[in-house]
Amino acid sequence: MKDIQGINLLDLVDKYSAPLYVYDTQIIEDNYNKFINAFNVSKLGINYACKALTNLSILRFFNKLGAGLDCVSIQEIRLGLAAGYRPEDILFTPNNISEEEYADAINCGVGINVDNIEMLEYFGATYPDVPLCIRINPHMMAGGNRNISVGHIGSKFGISIHQLPLLERIVKSFDINVNGIHVHTGSDILDPEIFIKAAKLILGVVDKFETVKFVDFGSGFKVAYKPGGLYTDIEELGAEFSVMFNEYCNEKGRELELKFEPGKYLVSDAGYFLVKVNVVKQTPATTFVGVDSGQNHLIRPMYYNAHHEIVNISNLDGKKKIYSVVGYICETDTFGADRQLSQVSKDDILMFKNAGAYCFAMSSNYNSRYRPAEVLIHEGRDYLIRKRETQEDILKNQLDPISF
Ligand SMILES: *Cc1c(COP(=O)(O)O)cnc(C)c1O
Repeated sequence: MKDIQGINLLDLVDKYSAPLYVYDTQIIEDNYNKFINAFNVSKLGINYACKALTNLSILRFFNKLGAGLDCVSIQEIRLGLAAGYRPEDILFTPNNISEEEYADAINCGVGINVDNIEMLEYFGATYPDVPLCIRINPHMMAGGNRNISVGHIGSKFGISIHQLPLLERIVKSFDINVNGIHVHTGSDILDPEIFIKAAKLILGVVDKFETVKFVDFGSGFKVAYKPGGLYTDIEELGAEFSVMFNEYCNEKGRELELKFEPGKYLVSDAGYFLVKVNVVKQTPATTFVGVDSGQNHLIRPMYYNAHHEIVNISNLDGKKKIYSVVGYICETDTFGADRQLSQVSKDDILMFKNAGAYCFAMSSNYNSRYRPAEVLIHEGRDYLIRKRETQEDILKNQLDPISF
C-alpha cells in the first residue's frame, strides 16, 4: 500500500515533507456507510465523536455525509458550529465541567448531556426549560484497557444506575424534560451479547421517563490494529441490536430514535502517519530506527500500549529485518519494539497505519517541537488541511515581561 486514491505517498512527503498526517475521505465514507447500513431501525442518528480527529475539513466532510456531532468541550462545539453543523445536530457530552461552560453550550443551542446528579439539580433549578439527556453508568466492565474503560464501578463517568430512584425523584421534583438517555460503556465492544445486555439495562431506565425521544448507546466499536486483530463486527452487532431495539419499541409502543457516537470506527483506518528515518542505530542488543517524530505526534503506543502497524514504504519489497522503531523525544518513546520491516535505511519513509483516531488529536508540543501538517485526500486530489507549526507557534502565547 503506497497509494491513496492514486496519489503516491512518497510524492506527498516530497510535496509537504515529513512528518505528515494523511487522511482518506473514501475510507471515512465507506466506514460511515457500513455503520449506518448495519442498523435496521426507523430512526437512526449518528453523531461523529469528533475528539478522535477534529480537523475542520473532517468535520465538514461528516456534515456532508449527514452525521451529527458528539462534542466533549465548548471548544469542540465552536469548531462544529464553524464547520456548519446546526446546534440541534450537536450533543454535548462533557464531564466535570464548570457551570459557565454549560451556560456557554446552552447559549449555543446544542443538546446537553448531564452526567452527574449535582449538575442535574443545578440544571433543574437554573434552566427549567432546557431539555436534558442523561448519561447513565451501567457499571458493566467493558474495554480492553483500564484507562479507556468508562463503565466500571470506579469510573468517574455517568450517573450510576444504582442511583436511579434518586434520579427519578430529582427529575420529578424539577419537572425536567428528559429527552434522551445516554450510555458510553467503554472503548472496546467486541461481543454483541455483552453490548446488548448493557443496552437492555439502559432501556430499563428509558422505561422510567416518558419524555425520552432518543436513546444514545455511545461507542466503543473496536477496529483491528493488526492483521487478524480483533474488531467489532458491526454487521452482526447491528442486526442483533436492531431486532432487540425494534422489539422494545413495539412492545412499549414508543417510536424512539436510536443514536450512536462512533469516533475511532469512522476514522481510525482512514489515517496514515508518515515519518522519515533519521538514524539506523545498531547496538549490541537491538537495531533502532530513529525517526523524525515521537510521542509528541503519536502517543498511543506509549500511553495505551497500542499497536500501530509500521510499513517501510520506501522499500516495500526489501528483505525483512527486525527493528525497534523509536522517536526523537527525550523519553523512551518506542513506537514499536521488535518489528519486522523491509530493510530500513536513513531517509526512508515509514508509514503508521490506523493513524486517524486519537493520533493528531492527542499531539503536543513536548520538547518544543512543532505539530505536523495534515493532508486530506479527496476525489483523487490532495489538500493541505493544516499547516505544520513553526517557531512562531511555539512562542505565540509566551510573554517575556521581566528583563533579567
Ligand atoms: C470518546 C467518546 C466516544 C467515541 O469513542 P470511540 O471509541 O472513539 O468510538 C463516544 N462518546 C463519548 C461520550 C466519548 O467520550
